[in-house]
Amino acid sequence: MLTVKNLYKQYDKIIAANNISFDVQDGEIAVLLGPNGAGKSTTIKCIAGLLRYEGSIDICGKQNKSIEAKRLFGYVPETPALYEMLTVYEHLEFIAQAYNLGECRQRMENLLERFELADKKDKLGKELSKGMQQKVSICCALLIEPKVILFDEPMVGLDPRAIKELKGIFLELKEKGCSVIISTHIIDSVEGIWDKTLIMKNGAVVMSRTREDLEKSAESLEQLFFQVTEG
Ligand code: ATP
Repeated sequence: MLTVKNLYKQYDKIIAANNISFDVQDGEIAVLLGPNGAGKSTTIKCIAGLLRYEGSIDICGKQNKSIEAKRLFGYVPETPALYEMLTVYEHLEFIAQAYNLGECRQRMENLLERFELADKKDKLGKELSKGMQQKVSICCALLIEPKVILFDEPMVGLDPRAIKELKGIFLELKEKGCSVIISTHIIDSVEGIWDKTLIMKNGAVVMSRTREDLEKSAESLEQLFFQVTEG
C-alpha cells in the first residue's frame, strides 16, 4: 500500500506538488493523469525518494526513504537510465545482487522472454534502442517482485507487442496484491485496467475518481480528463 500525505515540492518559484494526499491500496491500479507540467513526474520522483519534499510518503507503512521501503518498491522512470557498459543480463544480475534476491535466474529468463529481449541479453546498455532500454528498465523493476510499483510514462517508446505484454503485467501485479501507479498521457493505454484515477493540474490533484464512480456517471475517462483540465 502507498500513502501520500500533504506532499509539497517547490523548485525555486514553481510549486510542482501542492499539498497532495492520496493512497493506493493493495491490488489497486491508480492512474495519474494531467497535462504537461501538471506535476506527475515530480510526484512520482518524490514517492521514489529521489527528491527532497515536505509531507510524508509511506510504502506499506514504512517511510519511503528507508531501506525497508526501498526493498518493496519498483520504479520505472520516464527516461530509462541504463549502465552503458553492462549487458542486458548484467543489469538484471546487478538488481538481483543489490536487492539480495537469491536464486531468481528463471524469473530473469521469463521476463526477458516476455519482453522479447532473450536474444539481446548479451548486448550492452549503450547498444540498445530507446524501446529496448525501456523494456530492460521495466524488467529490472519487476524482478524484485515489488509490493508497490511506479511507472512514469511506461508506454513511451514501446512497440505494440510490448504494450500488450505490459498491460497483462499490470493486471498480474494487481492480482498479486501490488499497488500499481501509472502516470500516462495515453488514456487509451489504461482503459479497462484502472481502478482509480487522480487528475492533476498545476501541481494539485484536482479530481480523484474510482472506476465505479465513473461508470455511474456514464462518462469516459477521456471526457472526464478534458472536463477537469480544460473545463
Ligand atoms: P509532463 O507530462 O510534461 O511530463 P509532468 O506532469 O510530469 O509533465 P513535472 O515534470 O512534474 O510535470 O513538472 C511540474 C512543474 O515543475 C513544471 O512546471 C516543470 O517546469 C517544473 N519542474 C520540473 N522539474 C524541474 C526542475 N528540475 N527544476 C525546476 N522546475 C522543474
